[in-house]
Amino acid sequence: MIRYCKSCLYSDSHPLGLVIDDKNLCSGCKIHKEKYTLDWASRFEKLKNLTKKYKSNSKNYDCIVPVTGGGDSYFIVHIVKNVLKLNPLLVTYNNYYNSPLGIKNLSNLRIKFDCDILFKNVNPISVKKITKYTLRKLHSLYWHSLAGQSVYPVQVAKNFKIPLIIWGAHQGNEQVGMFSHEQEVEMTRRYRKDHDLMGYEAEDLLVTENDLNMDDVHEYIYPSDKDINNVGIRGIYLSNYIPWDPKTQHEKMIKLYKYKTCDFNRTFEKYDHTNCNVYMNIHDYIKLCKNGYSKVTDHATREIRHKRLTRYEGIKLVKKYELAKVKYENLFNEWIGIKDESGDFFYDKLKNNKYWIRDGVKKYIFNGHSKNLETKKKIKQIKKIYYIKNSNLNLNQKPKFIVFGKGI
Ligand SMILES: [Zn+2]
Repeated sequence: MIRYCKSCLYSDSHPLGLVIDDKNLCSGCKIHKEKYTLDWASRFEKLKNLTKKYKSNSKNYDCIVPVTGGGDSYFIVHIVKNVLKLNPLLVTYNNYYNSPLGIKNLSNLRIKFDCDILFKNVNPISVKKITKYTLRKLHSLYWHSLAGQSVYPVQVAKNFKIPLIIWGAHQGNEQVGMFSHEQEVEMTRRYRKDHDLMGYEAEDLLVTENDLNMDDVHEYIYPSDKDINNVGIRGIYLSNYIPWDPKTQHEKMIKLYKYKTCDFNRTFEKYDHTNCNVYMNIHDYIKLCKNGYSKVTDHATREIRHKRLTRYEGIKLVKKYELAKVKYENLFNEWIGIKDESGDFFYDKLKNNKYWIRDGVKKYIFNGHSKNLETKKKIKQIKKIYYIKNSNLNLNQKPKFIVFGKGI
């Protein structure tokens, strides 16, 4: 029997692992409350003292900041460069699903912050081979992206001997309250494997059931413990030192640095995944097929916890968006080399029968988590949650993946 949190929209079937107590409150909501109770001024002082030690006396960079152009990239660089006064080396992994808006935001980011940036472009033939396999095996077209963006900063740290990597939010904390902020949990190989990579490291992809070889996967292999210890590499999360609030942070970035945002079909949120033509579309749909909920539930939960939506308003929004049309599926099918009909057939096969009821040959009725969430209470009016939209994902051009782009 699935249990639901009384405060947010998550259940104890959350893939990151969520604990619901005997008062029906989840671990994510409990840890979120620390944002209102901890002494954040002194936590920020702690961050200042911690990072001060890494200021380079030579001309080397002080730290590495992984960016995508979307997500929290602007806010992290803002804190690192303009508040902590560090000199970061930005690093970005090219996931090949880049939207024109993402390329524009990334280009504006390095200009506005006057930062150097390194790009990692893994050979696209290997990326496609890997993605074909992970899609089939792990039902994920994002494995290579998560693997690349979590390993490339560590490889650069090793090669350039820059020990400190600064990340934004710890997802395990933000969503399911895995650790208290006071534990100041840092990046680990273990978390990356278990959660980002769904239990599969690059080496684990080398099996007889596919034609992948070491040349295809070696760019995704995590540096050895010895290499990590030699440089003293550590990765810290700003969300342990700043009460993380993506909506407010993004709005500040729009005002200060002209961060560009856009509408999405499948969520009310307009700030997070502007860099990608896949994440809020086919990737999000696969999440719904497998897990019975999609990103709009994450967004609504976040806003409920920040008290900008009531639980009932959140449920209404989830129901409005989660079955919305998927866009640009053809772009992904074309990129990876499958016919649209084969793609549809494959995505249907991913539908978990816990959350989808088969009704006829090609028809399924959705029976995911939102069906179990109470909406009987009458709501007179749904409060509008306001997001700034100042651009669009494909910049008024024909939708496409920018496989390689540097912007202006
Ligand atoms: Zn909760």
